[in-house]
Amino acid sequence: MNISVMEMDNSTFVYVNKTEVYEHVPENVNQAVRLRLCVDKDWPAEDSKNPLYSLGESKNFWRTGQTLRIKFMAAYAGSAYVQEKVRHYANEWLEYANLKFDWLPVGSKKKAHIRIAFKEGDGNWSDLGKNSRKTAANEPTMNFDGFTDDPSDEAYLKSATLHEFGHALGLLHEHHNPEGGIQWNKPVVFAYYLDMFGWDAAKTEYNLFKKYAKNKTQYTAYDPKSIMGYPIPEEHTLNGYSVADPTELSTTDKKFIASVYPGRLTVQKYL
Ligand SMILES: [Zn+2]
Repeated sequence: MNISVMEMDNSTFVYVNKTEVYEHVPENVNQAVRLRLCVDKDWPAEDSKNPLYSLGESKNFWRTGQTLRIKFMAAYAGSAYVQEKVRHYANEWLEYANLKFDWLPVGSKKKAHIRIAFKEGDGNWSDLGKNSRKTAANEPTMNFDGFTDDPSDEAYLKSATLHEFGHALGLLHEHHNPEGGIQWNKPVVFAYYLDMFGWDAAKTEYNLFKKYAKNKTQYTAYDPKSIMGYPIPEEHTLNGYSVADPTELSTTDKKFIASVYPGRLTVQKYL
C-alpha cells in the first residue's frame, strides 16, 4: 500500500493511495508533524544468515573530506526560493562534518551524489549516505514535499532539510536507536498511524518500533533532541514520556557527525 499525504490548506489533507482518495481533517495534530514525517525508505529485509538489519551500517558513510556534488532535478526543481533554503540549511551540517558540498546548477549534466526533487505527494525521504549510488542516475535520491515560498513555513523547511540531509550523510532515525528504551503504548500508536497515515500494523511496527542492531551501526545514547527523531506525543508512551518535534541540530547531532567526519576546525568553537 502506497499512501501519500498532501497539504491542501491549513486544515484539510487528502490521502491518496492507488484505489481511493478521501479527505481527512486532523484534530490536535500539528501540520508540520504530518508533512515532515519521513519513513525509512530502504531498510532491507532481515538477513537470513544473521537476524540483524544490514542498512544504516557504518559502510554508508562517505569518505571524510569528500566533496559531494548536489543538484536539483530539473523535472521537480522547485522554486529558486526553496532551493536557496535547502542549500542554506543543508550547509549547516558542514560546520561540523568534514565534507564539502558542490551545488550544481539545475539541469547540470554532471553526475551528482545527491539529487533533490520537490515532488508533491511523494513525502519526505532520502537515500542513506552513499547507498544512493544504487539509485539510477536519472532518479532523485532525496525528496521534499510541501515546500512553499511562504515565509511562515521556514521552520518546517529548516527541520526537513536538516533531517533529510542527515540521512544523506548516513544518519538513521533516532527512535530506532538500540539504546532507545521508549515504552511505547503500542495499541495507541497503531491506531494513530492507521488513522493519520493509513499505515497497517506491520508498517507502523517497521517505522516506529524496530531497533537497529548495535554491532551494525554507529550510535550514541538515545538523543531525544536529535533532528533525526520522530516527535512522540505523551499518549504514545506508557509512562507519559514525550519528544517534541525537533527543529534544529542537537548538540549530540553535531558531536556525532563531527566524529563520523572528523577534522572541522570550527567544531571546537561550537561544542
Ligand atoms: Zn527520516
